[in-house]
Amino acid sequence: MNSEKINFLVETYKLPKFRIQQFYDAFFDQGIASFNLIKTLPKSLRTQLNTNEQVLTGAPYRLFSSKSKNAFKALLRLHDGALIETVLLNPKPGLWSCCISSQAGCGLGCTFCATGSMGLIRNLSAEEITDQVLYWQTSDILKSFRSKLNNIVYMGMGEPFCNKKAVFSSLNELMNPSTFNIGARHISVSTAGIIPVISEFADTFPQINLALSLHAADDTLRQKLMPINKPYPINKLRDAIDCYLNKTNRKVFIEYILIDNENDGIPMAEHLVTFVKSIKKNHLVHVNLILYNRTDGGYLESQKQIADQFKNYLVKNGVKTTIRKNLGRDINGACGQLALKNPIGNSSACHTDAYLKKLTRE
Ligand code: SF4
Repeated sequence: MNSEKINFLVETYKLPKFRIQQFYDAFFDQGIASFNLIKTLPKSLRTQLNTNEQVLTGAPYRLFSSKSKNAFKALLRLHDGALIETVLLNPKPGLWSCCISSQAGCGLGCTFCATGSMGLIRNLSAEEITDQVLYWQTSDILKSFRSKLNNIVYMGMGEPFCNKKAVFSSLNELMNPSTFNIGARHISVSTAGIIPVISEFADTFPQINLALSLHAADDTLRQKLMPINKPYPINKLRDAIDCYLNKTNRKVFIEYILIDNENDGIPMAEHLVTFVKSIKKNHLVHVNLILYNRTDGGYLESQKQIADQFKNYLVKNGVKTTIRKNLGRDINGACGQLALKNPIGNSSACHTDAYLKKLTRE
């Protein structure tokens, strides 16, 4: 449900204009996810809408809860049977974030990422993206904690900048004062480095946070971990960040997953320091280190002591660094773990080589 769909309902069912506000109040203020429960509508209209229309594009398929009850993962089934995952996180009391998907699967094939192994099933529509937020906002979980969502991060399945049109439209809807009304600074978009879109994102959404999934600051290793590094290598990525910082003057976050014996040694930390220092406004760069979450890809997470050494090296060399808290591991809901057997079949998925060719041709 979004503002466009509400306008569609009003037009299709020839409803008076004042119904628009009643829909806004019901879905976005009161967290109602069923037409039947909107008491301001006449009963006959409720029944009619309930029979013919759906409030959420994704039907809940399965819900997982971490033991500590600070992470929840929902599998949503879309109209064509594609499954997507969205995660709700409670990193500290009173603070709730949700991580949303922009694609079913992903065509970029990062070798450490469970979603990447699926290939791209399809792009999500803008409504399918924001409905993940609405799903949590109307869920009993948030209601039972008497809480609202504070932050939204585009870090679920898929590469947001490979689905630019729908993602940009979904960002506008999340900030729409009549519907989600979420402040730009409470929204973050994470990209693997789709360089042509970074500059456009800076122009269009200068107040929304940008995170860059780097994971290695050396071309050979990054290319092994992230095939997207071939068309968009590290020096071009640095130029794109310079351009982004010039336009926005806002902090940029570099995400770096620490993988045992791959990218967690001091030589790799040196590469990362060199990369950050080569960014002109590097005082605006913040590195988030994340302990790798195991998938079927054969990689292991770095040991805690190695992660601390890596962090200390960065900090000693003047790079602002945090080791990020890892929630949702026990429900496979942490970074890089979102993958599932898709009922519409991975055989129809577009895999990395073909996808990169298509992407760089566009
Ligand atoms: S890490 Fe992100 S960009 Fe890479 S394969 Fe996974 S979902 Fe796609």
